[in-house]
Amino acid sequence: MIIRDITGIIYDDLNKTLENINKKQLNTLLQEGFLVIDEERDKKVLENCRKEIQEPYISTAYFFLTKNCNLACKYCFEKQSEIDNSLDGIMNYNTLIAGLDFFQRLINLDQKRFSERKTIIFYGGEPFHNKKLLFSAILEIQKRKKEGLLPIQTKMLVVTNGTLINDDDITFLKNNDITITFSLDGDKNASINRVFKDGKTLAWTKATDTFKKCVKAGINLNIACTLSPETILRQKEVLDYFISIGVTNIGFNVILDNDIIQLDNNYDDNAANFVTTSYETLSKNNITENRTRRRIDVFTHKHPCLFDCNASGGRQIAIAPNGDVGICHEHIMDKKHFITSIYDTHFNPRESKEYLTWNKRTPLYMEPCLNCIALGVCGGGCVINSERKYNSLLVPDPRFCKQTISILKNILL
Ligand code: SF4
Ligand code: SF4
Repeated sequence: MIIRDITGIIYDDLNKTLENINKKQLNTLLQEGFLVIDEERDKKVLENCRKEIQEPYISTAYFFLTKNCNLACKYCFEKQSEIDNSLDGIMNYNTLIAGLDFFQRLINLDQKRFSERKTIIFYGGEPFHNKKLLFSAILEIQKRKKEGLLPIQTKMLVVTNGTLINDDDITFLKNNDITITFSLDGDKNASINRVFKDGKTLAWTKATDTFKKCVKAGINLNIACTLSPETILRQKEVLDYFISIGVTNIGFNVILDNDIIQLDNNYDDNAANFVTTSYETLSKNNITENRTRRRIDVFTHKHPCLFDCNASGGRQIAIAPNGDVGICHEHIMDKKHFITSIYDTHFNPRESKEYLTWNKRTPLYMEPCLNCIALGVCGGGCVINSERKYNSLLVPDPRFCKQTISILKNILL
């Protein structure tokens, strides 16, 4: 067997390692389920994994409280820098309430799954740009949890640039057990893409200061770090920075393939390399990296990674400020896959052609993936990148494959 990925790259180091393992090691790998060499057994494993995919059922809701933002980040997919803030695209209270009613109806469609954990994510634009509504939403959700209308373990999360949060807000967020995801790209020199509307002033100083205050307040925090070329170039400084400010959980995001920012030909390899080589430093400092953790969990729990996000699987809704409803929040601007609205009283993801397609958007059903070494740990990556490039949801994105196989290789070796 020669290990190669779908782009034809052959993984010499993995191949050599496999060639040189002794019989005892081989038996251990077989017994522990790392390797399957019997074709019938292989088919059975695949069949069993496929059976684990449940019908579309909504467990996550994105609320776009506003499309507006106080920053103009140079790589922003929403192209905020090109539009002035306006009243269009701001969610109002009535829409918020109707959106919560809609989510509530959907999670009740399968009573057996009602008590499973649900997540409500406040998103934008910058959610703190519509702070009044954000705080009303948090209080309303707390009320509904107490009344049993939403599961008690419904988690609330806000994704923010961190520049509009004051000390009183931090107290409020802590008291309401809100998890905050900060968009931070590393140390100051790595953060030159995150700027205010003047195009020059960095968001970094204020965002870093707020992050540290949130650490002190004991809030659950994540970092969403975009792997800009500047971040990739400054790996040591970036990791030192995250360690110094008390980060415990981080997700690295590659820049989406779009016309906003030009990436050189080595970008994919460099981004994959950044993620895999950061892992050791991060784990030594008790920082979890989401992408790598998901792959390691497969081995720890002996359970395949079926999907890489909640849109695939058909488990998520994204609610636009005007009440339109789609699957993936990244399509907020072009409204692709926005197929219904919060006022639709009959919508059922189990009967939606769109949701049924996304439900099977996993490597376990994608033909080019079936012979891939990463099949069990992959999850399939971001769907919209494949879609933008190949005009199909159901093909793998080679950029993502490189990253996944590189992580897997490190785990295996
Ligand atoms: S398709 Fe991509 S952008 Fe959309 S939820 Fe999944 S990972 Fe996120
Ligand atoms: S998407 Fe995942 S399983 Fe499919 S070819 Fe790429 S790395 Fe392999």
